[in-house]
Amino acid sequence: MAEFDLIASIRARAATRGDVVLGIGDDAALLRVPTGRLLAVATDTLNIGVHFPEDTLPDAVGWKALAVNLSDLAAMGATPAWCTLSLSLPEGDALWVERFLDGFLALARDHDVALVGGDTTRGPMSVCVTVHGVVEEGRALRRDGARVGDDLWISGTLGDAAAALSQWRAGGAAEPFLRARLDRPTPRIALGAALAGIATACIDVSDGLLADLGHLCIASGVGAEVRLDALPASPALAALFTDETRHVLQAGGGDDYELCFTAAPEQAEAVRTAADLAGTPVTRIGRIVDGAAVRALLAESNEWTPPQHGYEHFR
Ligand code: ADP
Ligand code: MG
Repeated sequence: MAEFDLIASIRARAATRGDVVLGIGDDAALLRVPTGRLLAVATDTLNIGVHFPEDTLPDAVGWKALAVNLSDLAAMGATPAWCTLSLSLPEGDALWVERFLDGFLALARDHDVALVGGDTTRGPMSVCVTVHGVVEEGRALRRDGARVGDDLWISGTLGDAAAALSQWRAGGAAEPFLRARLDRPTPRIALGAALAGIATACIDVSDGLLADLGHLCIASGVGAEVRLDALPASPALAALFTDETRHVLQAGGGDDYELCFTAAPEQAEAVRTAADLAGTPVTRIGRIVDGAAVRALLAESNEWTPPQHGYEHFR
């Protein structure tokens, strides 16, 4: 199918919103930002073979391309509103695009996100999404607000996606629950919004807990201690891996798209209430300390040196 037929098929399925003055079809979209709100913008690219295995189904590619972007808005405490989609495809495969849109637009519908534009080109398969959201001024969850003495929290469970990837790389089919966590991550939008005004700092875990926590610590000028025995594990992960392998996957595996955040200890009840409200479990996994180091502890003071902190391109 040719470029403009593909664009027409995307346009035909994209939903809109009342604040979209002009969507797909012109040189730029026109969007109404509510007065008194800041516009939050994030962009993320998925490349085949780098960000998703070659055998990933097209609807999972679509879901994940939007999910990893919404996860960035969640980590800011922002409410998503609009997105653009830049598709690079080796051929104009109309059926692939339809299945891709099944996943992409299902998640967009869940969060009332309107697809308002994009680009469609020929090249190696690559999907770049930009998301736009809004957040009340002064309530955004930034990386630079963590203070010494704060509790360190994580949402959901860690290590599932990395476990699926390791099973896939070993040549076997990944366990279905773990594979679903790799293919269809859940952006913690409701939790991020509920934590605005409670958490002191927040980051979403995409490259690995210790690596991303390291970014938060550098931005805040603090160190952190993480208790490995406190890291939340899904039943599938706990059943299929030894504690030692599990710790490696959870501390540095990546692709989790959980929120790692800090809050003053006296806010612990407020954090739990926010988590209940959002319907997302949270676990206290450590604390913010003086210094600049992120240390992982096996027990009270038994330091553990991870084989990897997380994923980095070009390394
Ligand atoms: P231009 O030549 O101005 O870059 P295009 O021909 O690339 O415009 O796109 C035409 C219209 O279709 C634009 O409004 C653009 O935003 C939209 N569009 C193109 N590709 C996509 C896509 N993959 N998803 C959503 N909208 C798209
Ligand atoms: Mg274009």
